[in-house]
Amino acid sequence: MRVYVRTYGCKVNQVDSEELAARLVGEGHVLVRDESLAQLYVINSCAVTAEAVAKVRKGVRRAASLPGVAQVLVSGCAAVLHADELTALSDKIVIIGGGVGDGLPPRGPVSASLRPPSTGSIPNSSSGHTRVPIKVQDGCENFCSYCIVPYARGACRSTSLDTLCQQVAELAANGTEEVVLTGINIGRYRDPETGTDLVGLIRALDERTGIGRIRLSSIEPPDVTDALCELLEEGILCEHLHIPLQSGSDSVLAAMGRHYTSAEYVEALARVRAAAPATAITTDVIVGYPTETEADFASTLALCRQQRFAKIHVFRFSGRAGTPAAALAPLGPRIVADRARRLRALSDELVARYTAACDGRTLEWIVERIDPATQTATLTSREHLVMQAGARGLVQGQLVELPFAMMKTSIPEGAEV
Ligand code: SF4
Repeated sequence: MRVYVRTYGCKVNQVDSEELAARLVGEGHVLVRDESLAQLYVINSCAVTAEAVAKVRKGVRRAASLPGVAQVLVSGCAAVLHADELTALSDKIVIIGGGVGDGLPPRGPVSASLRPPSTGSIPNSSSGHTRVPIKVQDGCENFCSYCIVPYARGACRSTSLDTLCQQVAELAANGTEEVVLTGINIGRYRDPETGTDLVGLIRALDERTGIGRIRLSSIEPPDVTDALCELLEEGILCEHLHIPLQSGSDSVLAAMGRHYTSAEYVEALARVRAAAPATAITTDVIVGYPTETEADFASTLALCRQQRFAKIHVFRFSGRAGTPAAALAPLGPRIVADRARRLRALSDELVARYTAACDGRTLEWIVERIDPATQTATLTSREHLVMQAGARGLVQGQLVELPFAMMKTSIPEGAEV
């Protein structure tokens, strides 16, 4: 059959989709880039916010309305959490479980081999990626009060270290220069056979695979240990960490069920900067949590300003049904919108300050893509700066050293790089 795969949400879903697509091809199906040609339409869904679910619902409805589409398979977090609602949209829709594939049995006449993978996807280096996401871990057991992800993704489990080393070695042998270690809570990585943790995994990848660069997608503050910082100091990890803050107020952090105080968060950043001062640190902040007072928000603003983030990803709180925070009386939408506006303004200021500080520095870049029409190359640095430059002499996928020029640059949207 001709198959079209659409992915919503995070890097973990992207990796799941790639493996699913590879399996479909292995079964004799043909992937198409044009959805109007599809006979089988696969949607790997996201449920992280109410808006994400609304987008999935719209996408599923649209896919089912395409005249050539005989069946729409839906996997991922929204498939787990909103199965009945989604199947009610059309007779063509079949739920095939979570993005991790081990939570639910398939409903309907779907081959078991179409279930998405548990962990350990084999990224397809021929898909044109120059920076390849590698899912090392899935699931989360933190149950932060606002987060629906643990309910959809289930308990923590990890791919074996040997399997990951083999995958990355193959990618490196095929010319991939950078891998991005991805998961729902990658600080919880533990090799199922030996219990080796994330730091041990990164050291093994560095020593055994020949990969050029290793990057982390996102790491929780308690996992920013001295041992992890040593990897930055030794140049084994790219000098960019995304460390979610969520709030600068201890009372809000406690209400959110986060496992650190603002002081502990600041200490984690100090460890990073002592080890590798040029590290770009980006973060997520939720504004308008139901218990957040103006004084709490002022603490968040002060911490963010003081900590000189390279970028802040600002999320407005919206209660997710089934989470403890959804039972709390929400703040007024104007208050939430105003706080989001003020924090985004601070983020813009910090981005400008960070990029100005990097201006003129010679950095290591990976050539992500080259636009043949304009002969413009898009490059990404170890610090996750993005720059455009003339493509003459550059080859897609190669590492190059160039001075950073502020024109046409940005720190890309999205926590997960
Ligand atoms: Fe959600 Fe908290 Fe787990 Fe992150 S650490 S996935 S916010 S429960």
